[in-house]
Amino acid sequence: MYHHSGSVAQQAAGSPTGLLDPRGPATEAILFQRCTWCGTAMYHRVLCPVCRGSDLRTERSEGVGTVRHSTVVHRNTPAARNVSLIEMAEGFVVRGRVMGPPIGIHSGDRVRLSTAKDPVRGEPVFQLIDEPYRAWT
Ligand SMILES: [Zn+2]
Repeated sequence: MYHHSGSVAQQAAGSPTGLLDPRGPATEAILFQRCTWCGTAMYHRVLCPVCRGSDLRTERSEGVGTVRHSTVVHRNTPAARNVSLIEMAEGFVVRGRVMGPPIGIHSGDRVRLSTAKDPVRGEPVFQLIDEPYRAWT
């Protein structure tokens, strides 16, 4: 009379089975530190630059930021490359490269993390979020 079909129905109900974050490898994210005392976000620091606290916890950035400063470097490289300071949404600043024409990166441009570690230089690589609609001429 009783059929053991309940277990199938329970699985179909969709209980979350993944304990780990299934999205992307951890290498494609920038880890930063946040001061547990004052909440300041920082990158590659040992002490909080604001309150000099050493009680920092590591957090993972969403990978979205804004270009604060951008320069084109011609030195020691066959092709000009872009070096930018990116202020991340979490509030810390990281140095990296923005893909695209080196002269096409401007302060205020919104970027998203593309690669956390460049295989050559080990620096983060970003891409522009907004397509450059502005006229180039
Ligand atoms: Zn602090």
